[in-house]
Amino acid sequence: MALTATYHEGGEDTYGRDSNATWTAFEEVLGGLEGGEALAFASGMAAISAVVESVPIGGGVVVAADAYQGTRLLLQDLAGRGRLTLRTVDVADTDATLAGCAEVAGAGDHRGGPGEFGAGGLLWVESPTNPLLTVADLAALSAGAHELGLSVAADNTLATPILQRPLELGVDVVVHSVTKLLSGHSDVVMGAAVSRDPAITATLTRRRSLTGAIPGPFETLLALRGVRTLAVRIERSQATAAELANRLSVRKGVAGVRYPGLAHHLGHERARRQMRGFGTMLAFELEGGVSAADAVCHGTRLITAGTSLGGVESLMERRGRYPAEHHLPASLLRLSVGLEHVEDLWADLDGAMTSAGF
Ligand SMILES: *Cc1c(COP(=O)(O)O)cnc(C)c1O
Repeated sequence: MALTATYHEGGEDTYGRDSNATWTAFEEVLGGLEGGEALAFASGMAAISAVVESVPIGGGVVVAADAYQGTRLLLQDLAGRGRLTLRTVDVADTDATLAGCAEVAGAGDHRGGPGEFGAGGLLWVESPTNPLLTVADLAALSAGAHELGLSVAADNTLATPILQRPLELGVDVVVHSVTKLLSGHSDVVMGAAVSRDPAITATLTRRRSLTGAIPGPFETLLALRGVRTLAVRIERSQATAAELANRLSVRKGVAGVRYPGLAHHLGHERARRQMRGFGTMLAFELEGGVSAADAVCHGTRLITAGTSLGGVESLMERRGRYPAEHHLPASLLRLSVGLEHVEDLWADLDGAMTSAGF
């Protein structure tokens, strides 16, 4: 681990805000997995901000209505101050999303010149979305947005490159909250951006240096260690998530289950085409509304009530408790499935539902 802020003069490295050998080691692993060149950032939001900054003043951004709340809050804040023009769309609906792109295409002050990343606007996709697990058609959206002159960024946090490689589907930049599945142990906040275009990588590298949005070497080392087990963690958590989704689907008191692996899930066929698995996240609604959902969420003992996802321990949360998530079904519980035994998890969930009167 390179624990240093400074370097001897004359070498490739000059200062700790510009380069670090531990970042490079992590970036090589993630770049290899996504099929591009990766850059480590201080957090997922730092990576997202760096990408969004590519849009010219007044430029158009089209975002999924159910994208991660931090992304939406950032974009709303920027739009509110006139920094950009925002359109919110249902990314499951390809035609509606591209109609939104057409509305904002070419908006803003074109200082960067056509062809430069973000200059004609930006389509921000997330697939599957957090927490509704909406699946967007990444190839069709990328092709359509590019035709309209927009660049395309995809948040691949929930799928990870083990299950989905957006750059191969035409996306220009992939971003990650490394905090989640990539590091996998809920002990680090970190982010990353990945691209195949050297011009984009150069711009984002420069922006990372100038804004100081850099991860610490300790955090990067933890992420590097976590990513070594990514594939096996996903394999186990995904198998458990599928089983829990199936059991919840027929459990008394459950009003609906969202999991891309379920045949009735709206994005099931699309996920089957574009992903190598259906992931480790599921969401479900309870009959009995908010109070029942809160009772179940706080009635489990093995599953921890808390925010975040993608760690070795299972976490559950009623997302509707946040003002920015009031568009969600109020009783929707998001479950991030960890590495515990499926029968222990089921006994915990089933027991909490029984205690809540279901
Ligand atoms: C958590 C999360 C983020 C934000 O990442 P941080 O590391 O918390 O800054 C972005 N996108 C998705 C899908 C997330 O789940």
